Amino acid sequence: MYDLVVVRYGELTLKGRNKKRFTQQLTKTIRTACRHLPVRFESEHDRFYIHLDDAAYDHVASALAIIPGVAGFSPAIKAEKTTEAITEASSRLLAMHLDSPKTFKVETRRADKTFAIPSMTFSRALAGRLLSAFSDLSVDVHTPDLALHVEIRQSMAFVFVDKVEGLGGFPAGIAGKGYVLLSGGIDSPVAAFLAMKQGIAIEGMHFESSPLTSIEAAQKVVDLSQCLAPYAMHQHFRLHMVPFHRLHQKILETVPEPYHIIIMRRMMFRIAARYARLDHTQVLVTGESVGQVASQTLESLNVINAVTHMPILRPLVTMDKKACIRWAQKIGTYDISIRPFEDCCAVYVPAQPATAPRDYLALRYERLFDFETEISTILKQIQVLEIKQDTSLFLPDYGLTVLEALEAIGAQT
Ligand code: ATP
Ligand code: MG
Repeated sequence: MYDLVVVRYGELTLKGRNKKRFTQQLTKTIRTACRHLPVRFESEHDRFYIHLDDAAYDHVASALAIIPGVAGFSPAIKAEKTTEAITEASSRLLAMHLDSPKTFKVETRRADKTFAIPSMTFSRALAGRLLSAFSDLSVDVHTPDLALHVEIRQSMAFVFVDKVEGLGGFPAGIAGKGYVLLSGGIDSPVAAFLAMKQGIAIEGMHFESSPLTSIEAAQKVVDLSQCLAPYAMHQHFRLHMVPFHRLHQKILETVPEPYHIIIMRRMMFRIAARYARLDHTQVLVTGESVGQVASQTLESLNVINAVTHMPILRPLVTMDKKACIRWAQKIGTYDISIRPFEDCCAVYVPAQPATAPRDYLALRYERLFDFETEISTILKQIQVLEIKQDTSLFLPDYGLTVLEALEAIGAQT
């Protein structure tokens, strides 16, 4: 069985002087992701090792598979730095891969030059020994079925065959900061994760309309934030709760129904962009995609976008629903997102939403009420929750309504 996982950083190594900061952030994420497993860690300039001790490789592999910044990894078998021990480890490894006749080659890297045998000589000698031990094996140095890698390093030697592809990208927080507009739906948590994967430090902003919407709808967003926490800076996710109820109610009362969602979104963007600027945040991120619903036609996206100059990242813009669901399942948000409680964009959906809205009409309907005063009030009332990956926060424990709960928790404004 395997006793070591070799983790590679890939893209990160290109990043010159920032490299140290990146690798520190990345190894911290890996350590936290594996914190419940009986493993030991070892750092070595462009590599990271996870000694499996009593842990199952599969558990480590599934944790590594979704860590941004991990380019790839290999399960390996350790050996003493002697020809006999390396041959024995190689035999055990090959036996795991030889369910049918295969071609192979041996590649040796000798980082420890005090090991007396040169790499090429060692590869050839080892290949010879393995050929005589396994009748199912033949050599092909150009396109082998298996490449057996031998590494002889200062602290140990190890052998591996598999190279598992990682997620790539960058560890959280190296690319500046953004706010994700986080609904309780399937898409926005995935958008948040993909933005984090590019190294953006992401905080969440949820527009909650209780009592028009339920405390369970707000709870979904808290639980989604907990799923995102492992990938966030310092492994906790800041969730900004925006009290949207009064403005939402005004929109329902004054704006013609087909424009409800469009105007609601414009208000969200206005609030988010202003709040973000106060906080030195460069971008907003949404789970919007083209053409899924009326508010996501290109015309709608334009009219919604017109209220702010802040760049809006839409990581899912060309992704279809199935692909998005696969991501949601991978990062563990899907089961939370499909709970039946609805956020403000999903309650009171207009029977006939405008699919080709006009800018001038949106402006006209917005003049029907004093939204500026509302927005100023809202900006002062936004509350922040720090969501940690290991501690669940259950709002109904603190109050019957979202407001009561936030007050009792003592969220900061
Ligand atoms: P999602 O699954 O993320 O809800 P969706 O496909 O259901 O997306 P919409 O409901 O039209 O799409 O919302 C589009 C985007 O607007 C969301 O992805 C999210 O970024 C943002 N959004 C919608 N409602 C809210 C809300 N109540 N709070 C914060 N952001 C929201
Ligand atoms: Mg939605």
